Parts: sequence; structure tokens; C-alpha cells
Amino acid sequence: MEIYEKLQFLRRYFMVVLKVRCFHIYFNYVNHGGKKTMLKKLVVGFIQANCYIIGCPKTQEGVVVDPGDETARIVDEITRSTLTIRYILLTHGHFDHVGSAEELRDITKLPVLIHDLDSRFLGFKPDGFLYDGLQIQIGTYTLSVLHTPGHTPGGVSIHAPGVVFTGDTLFAGSIGRTDLPGGDYHRLIESVKKKIFPLGDDVRIYPGHGPASTIGQERRTNPFFS
Ligand SMILES: [Zn+2]
Ligand SMILES: [Zn+2]
Repeated sequence: MEIYEKLQFLRRYFMVVLKVRCFHIYFNYVNHGGKKTMLKKLVVGFIQANCYIIGCPKTQEGVVVDPGDETARIVDEITRSTLTIRYILLTHGHFDHVGSAEELRDITKLPVLIHDLDSRFLGFKPDGFLYDGLQIQIGTYTLSVLHTPGHTPGGVSIHAPGVVFTGDTLFAGSIGRTDLPGGDYHRLIESVKKKIFPLGDDVRIYPGHGPASTIGQERRTNPFFS
């Protein structure tokens, strides 16, 4: 009996350790002035767009940014993440970023938000609009919306503590296409210079495709700006 109890104790102990470890492996943590952002990147669809699950470690509340494809996988990842998701946010209206939004909304009942000028790309009515200066409270911190047109007229970037989600406006070492309907090269350059760069060199950039970067890195080395 005594051995059995000891084994039970050990089993419980290892289960707890395992759970805590999995939880920490699951997310990346970005630390910024004492505030942390939890972040998980999922590369979805055949165009390989970045979908992000992000959240506040204190309150375990979060949002999904750009659910472009693979709805079942995104739902699975949200469930695994332990976060309570509050919103589905779309950086712009292109299908590789919004492809799963309606399905995800139907399953999760979460509101989908996009800039009004890009809502025409959606095949459904969004639940609300993102606009420049809008602040969305998630847990104990605030997400700020920056209108960054140029790739599309209603493109936005989403700024959270220490991080900015730039959609197809700014990539590591490059910028988004401006030859698609509604695209405007000069507006894109202005958006990056006036809205994204002032966030500060140490802020990490999480773009809609490809790897992450920092504002400092892009300011110094991105051929479109340096
Ligand atoms: Zn796009
Ligand atoms: Zn894209």
C-alpha cells in the first residue's frame, strides 16, 4: 500500500511537471518593459501565411490574428493554448489571411474585426471595425490599431506590448506587394515610416509571411528604407 501511494504521488508530480513544461514550450514570450506577450505562430494554407495566437500571461486572455486557412488546426491550437480568446483580428482582407475567419467565427462565436475599407474583400459581414487609434483591452494590456494602408486600402498593423503584427505591409527585409487592386507604393512607405517605425527599435515585428524581425533591424537593413 505504501509503495502504491508513493507511486501515485510520483505519477501526479510528473504529470504536473509535464503540464507546466508543455505550457512554457507552447508559447514564445516577448518581454517589454515588464509586460509580457505570449505568442504562437502557425503557418497556414498553401500561400504559407502566418496566423498568430497571442495573449496576456497574467489573465490568460488573447486574440487570433489572421486565421488564413486550416480552421480545424487553429481551433485545436486555441484549445491547447489554454487562453480564452476574445477576438479574431484581421490585418487586411486578402484571402490568405481571412480564409478561415468565417468558419472560425461560426465555431467559436468570437467577433471578427477588420478595417472598413477591406471589409469588401470578405464574403461575410464582420462584427466590428478596426480603425486607426482603436485600443482593444485584452487582459491587463492594450492592443492598439494602426491604419497602415498601401498593400491594401484598409490594411492595419496591431501593436501589443513589445510586438507589432504588420500583415503584408512590412516583412523581414522586404515590403508587401503594391501592384494588387487598391495598392499604393508611396502610401505603404509612408505607413511604415510614420506608423510602424516610431514604435521603437526594440519592438519585434511579426509579419504576415516569413520570419520575425525588429523595427531597428528593418530601419537599418531593409532595402526599401535604408
Ligand atoms: Zn495581402
Ligand atoms: Zn499575404
